[in-house]
Amino acid sequence: MPYGYTGNILHVNLSTKEIWVEYPEENFYRTYWGGRALALYYMLNQMKPHTDPLSPDNLLIFAPGVLTGTPAPAMPRYTVCAKSPLTGAQGEAEAGGWWGPELKKAGIDAIIIKGSSSTSVYLYIKDGKVEIKDATHLWGKDTGETQKIIKKELADDRIRIAQIGPAGENLVRFANIVNELKHFNGRNGLGAVMGSKKLKAIAVRGTKPINLYNKEKIKEISKQITLRIPDNPLSRNLREFGTVAGITSIYKAGWLPTNNWSTNDFKKGENLAEETYNKTILKKNEGCYACPIRCKRVVEVDEPSVKVDPIYGGPEYEAVVSFGSLCGIDDLKYIAKANELCNKYTMDVISTATTIAFSMQCYQEGILTKEDTEGIELNFGNKEAILKIVEMIAHRKGLGNLLAEGSYRAAQKIGKGADKFIRQVKGQEVPMHDPRVKTGVGLQYALSDYGADHMKAAHDSYFKDKDSWGVKEMKGLGILGPVSPIDIGQNKVALFKLLDIYWSLLDTLGVCDFGYVPRSVGTLDELLEIIRSATGWRTTWFELMKLGERSINMARVFNYREGFTSKDDTLPEVFYQNFKGGPLDGQGAINKEDFQKALRLRYQLMGWGPDTGIPAPAKLIELGLDWLIDEIKR
Ligand code: SF4
Repeated sequence: MPYGYTGNILHVNLSTKEIWVEYPEENFYRTYWGGRALALYYMLNQMKPHTDPLSPDNLLIFAPGVLTGTPAPAMPRYTVCAKSPLTGAQGEAEAGGWWGPELKKAGIDAIIIKGSSSTSVYLYIKDGKVEIKDATHLWGKDTGETQKIIKKELADDRIRIAQIGPAGENLVRFANIVNELKHFNGRNGLGAVMGSKKLKAIAVRGTKPINLYNKEKIKEISKQITLRIPDNPLSRNLREFGTVAGITSIYKAGWLPTNNWSTNDFKKGENLAEETYNKTILKKNEGCYACPIRCKRVVEVDEPSVKVDPIYGGPEYEAVVSFGSLCGIDDLKYIAKANELCNKYTMDVISTATTIAFSMQCYQEGILTKEDTEGIELNFGNKEAILKIVEMIAHRKGLGNLLAEGSYRAAQKIGKGADKFIRQVKGQEVPMHDPRVKTGVGLQYALSDYGADHMKAAHDSYFKDKDSWGVKEMKGLGILGPVSPIDIGQNKVALFKLLDIYWSLLDTLGVCDFGYVPRSVGTLDELLEIIRSATGWRTTWFELMKLGERSINMARVFNYREGFTSKDDTLPEVFYQNFKGGPLDGQGAINKEDFQKALRLRYQLMGWGPDTGIPAPAKLIELGLDWLIDEIKR
């Protein structure tokens, strides 16, 4: 068994209740490593094309990386993969917290779940022993209650629990999975897949140390990184303000998404700003497993009109902006409440809030009426309405039943031109970063295998001038100079090819993007040395970048098999139009032709057909994926 791994891949069939363990060879681990690459190996090998995402035939895969649980900063993460009920494409989401490291300590490298139980169940894994336990008494309960009951009935407060709330049970297409009540596999509706399998939770307890090649070396590097955190503005900012750190500069620059992206003129931006957040709702900051950066927010509100329980953490940038300016709301206490409800019912905040903002615009335009909303005045800025609609979506009540399908499907069902107001790529709602001021993020929205997402690569701002952290610290990957955030030419395309591969690699290793360059303090040299010290493999950046590329190509083939083509690599129309209102009024539109040219160049740089975007057989051979050639010939 190679260092860094347990050597055990757990298979569970919930239909037949069979449980077995696979013991892969070292070369398997050295090819697929873990996280998204390992999960995609099983998705491509064990799932038939065109599987219904909510059927027993979908797989649900939990896969930490080889570094998950090492005592280095920012290495708590694990991937969950399945075919997405929101997009119909490869579905994937990474989470931090504590559950991934616990799974490794329990002696498991990954869990592959098939089938569907006839009654609700949860999995209990303790030091390699696996039980399927009854969960009928937990079905319908929110995440806080469920966690309390499981810990009590297993008589162990140190158990780590990944679970779904009522939204997952009710098959809300953007339901997510949470561990320790605050850490989310957020996007793509993976919680609905878990709900369709009647799997309420996976409770894990591990007491064995992870077998690392040179643990002392990892501790020494960790100490060096930790000592530099207070002097590094990026890490310091993350600790002080979390991901909401940039809101002040964004609203002043004039690109805070407002009223469903219909304008950028949000007059009350300072009510959402990081300083306001810290003064009004922040209770404390917290961290994930072994991470000294501690960027996670915990909030508390205790007022007669609104109460927010700190056990559910606190809103990050995406929740503050999507429930805030995107819905025309400037009251952080209500935003924190909407975030808390999403967390206890397990719904992705970006998709929930964007779908609500879409319905608000439909209401404003007269496409939805009071009859559709059961009397709720669904106007932008109505903060009480937001809380009601979140409840209705989670429980699929009234209009909530329609919105639980996501904005894309809801628009098709509503008709009457509602599709003009959806903001999505491949069926997934866009995050709160505007491609008109970050064209690289726009390329990633369009190309992402799992629909628009802001975590597919580092953002353009880390490369904007010669003093940017990405330019200073990533020369080892060939990034030698700055590129303007609004440039969409060949230098931007080449830069984002590298960044896509690099972050795909981090999602394969179990590394948090916020711990290392260009987003934070850890360097490329330190990261490489940690990987070598964990595995004992004298690996290089060449091998590692090929691994990142391998996972991108596997996802691309999976989606091709499902019928996705280059036509699905798009941006919402709103980004091809100028900003409306605020300091950027009348400027900023992305030129559609330039964007298409950039996409085609990117296909070529990736070794894909320049028009089709399909990986060429030679590229698959180069990456050791020749077994996928038949898939692209079909
Ligand atoms: S940087 Fe933040 S999100 Fe990442 S591992 Fe550390 S505490 Fe968790």
